[in-house]
Parts: sequence; structure tokens; C-alpha cells
Amino acid sequence: MRVDLHTHSHCSDGTDSPAALVRAAAAAGLDVVALTDHDVADGWSSAAAAAADAGIGFVPGMEVSCTMDGSGVHLLAYGVDPTHPPLADELQRVLDGRNRRLPATVDRLRALGIDIDEAAVRAVAGPAAALGRPHVADALVQAGVVVDRRAAFVRYLMPGRPAYVSRYAAPLRQLLDAVADAGGVSVLAHPWGRGSRTALGATAVAELARLGLTGLEVWHRDQSERDSRELYALARDLGQVAIGSSDYHGLGKVDHELGCHTTPPEQFERLLAAMAAAAGAARAAEPSVQPSPAVLR
Ligand code: AMP
Ligand code: ZN
Ligand code: FE
Ligand code: FE
Repeated sequence: MRVDLHTHSHCSDGTDSPAALVRAAAAAGLDVVALTDHDVADGWSSAAAAAADAGIGFVPGMEVSCTMDGSGVHLLAYGVDPTHPPLADELQRVLDGRNRRLPATVDRLRALGIDIDEAAVRAVAGPAAALGRPHVADALVQAGVVVDRRAAFVRYLMPGRPAYVSRYAAPLRQLLDAVADAGGVSVLAHPWGRGSRTALGATAVAELARLGLTGLEVWHRDQSERDSRELYALARDLGQVAIGSSDYHGLGKVDHELGCHTTPPEQFERLLAAMAAAAGAARAAEPSVQPSPAVLR
């Protein structure tokens, strides 16, 4: 069984529609795919319908931009009720932060003499509610300023570059509670990818495990084989579920094709059990919560 638990559609900064993404997942031989757009659940219903048509399983998820002790950390949340107030409020703050950042980023680029405006970014972003730097990058590519997203980040959009503007991210410890209250489970995305290793050493991960974290993304393109071996050992020692996934973004990210990393079936079974337990506990505490279960074939 091949399970890919981390992908992005055009509802955030991927390029496929949710339905096209699911069809591509089926064509790539996956048995289960999760849709985990940044900070939104917008693609879940069409992805779930496409999964039913394609005869593969679907797991509803999202990747929430968080902060822990001053570092940016991405949290995968599966099975949540995205309308449950504490979580919904945090997601709205993150989206508001994205919308405030966009004009500031555009101003910086214009000050550098680049002819770009908000409308150009919104045009390349299509239906995405979660506007991000990758969309600014696409607009820069479209305008012929840079050749690809990566070049746009390196020249303008990374921290320390002239058009970088920071934005709101959800406090991680608080978000673990919000996800649990919304009937879902939390998994740290690429904990040692892109330099976040300093914030998420063994001690920090052990604390997060005590606070309700369910798993770690062990296998991911931004983590070396050695990182993965150490993360797997850490997950095992802490009783955490170990997942692997592609972080597919369609044409938006090279080297992240669907299924390039997958989650071992026995680990996926543990994740499903944790999701069922979390949904039950949240509903027992608050009957109005409506968790979003995985649908398997
Ligand atoms: P944002 O959500 O606007 O802060 O942008 C973060 C997203 O940009 C990440 O989730 C990645 O998909 C992408 N990203 C971050 N750093 C880079 C980079 N150096 N090159 C290409 N894409 C990047
Ligand atoms: Zn992304
Ligand atoms: Fe991420
Ligand atoms: Fe991602």
C-alpha cells in the first residue's frame, strides 16, 4: 500500500486543482493521498469526490504555518473540523497576515524598480486563498524578472533578501491544543528541513510529544538520509508515528513528485487509529465538533 500524506493544490501554492492532483496520485500508483494545503481546507470536498471516482483513499489535512521560540515550523493537521473556533480563528489570523504581507512585498519590489502589482500576483495565484511568496515568485517569472521560483526566492524573497517581509504564524504549542480540540491530530512537517533543526532538537520534540503531538515527517526531500535515520529513532523512542511524503506542489516545486517518499503501511494504520481516537475525544468533550475522517477504499 502506497500512502502520500503531504501535497499542495492550487488552493495554496501548488499548481494542480485538487481533483487533478488526486487523479495524478491515482495515476502514480498511490492507494491513499492527503491534501495538505497551507492554512486552508478549501480543496477537501473536490479532492474527496475525485478520490471516490478514482478509487483511492483520501485523508483531509492542512499544513499550518506556526512559530516556536522564534523559529518558523510547519504543522500538518489531519482530520480536523476546520470550522471549530479556536483553530478557525488561528487560520484566519494566518490568512490575514498573508494578505497584509502581499502589499508590503510588492512595495519593496517596486522600490527595487520592478514593475509588479498586487493584481499581477493575484492573477497567477488563481483560486488560492492562502497567498504566499511562491505566488509572488510566479508573478516575477511571468514578468521575466527571474527564470523560476527558486531564483525569485534566492534573489528577493528569502529572509535577508530585499523583498522579504515576515508575517503572522500561529504559536505552535497553542495550535497543538486547537487541533486536538478540533478533533484532529498533529504531525511536524519536515522538522529538520530548511534549517529548522535548531528549533526542533530532541528535547523540543519530546516536549511537543508531551503536549499532544502525534507524529514526525521522517522521510522528506529536504531531509538527508542521515536526518531521516535520526528522526526515525527519535520518533520510535518517543512513541511518535513516522510518516514520509512528497510535499508535492505540481509544477511549483521540482523533485517532489507524488509518492517520491511514502508512509509505511503500519505507520499509516497508527495514524488512522490516532485520528479516530482524537475525533472521539473531541466529540466527547464538545458534541458540536465535526472532525473530518479519512476515507479509505
Ligand atoms: P510563505 O507561505 O509565503 O511563507 O512561503 C513559504 C513557501 O514557499 C514554502 O511552503 C515553500 O513552498 C516555498 N519556499 C520557501 N523557501 C523556498 C525556496 N528557497 N525556494 C523555493 N520555494 C521556497
Ligand atoms: Zn507550499
Ligand atoms: Fe512546509
Ligand atoms: Fe508543504
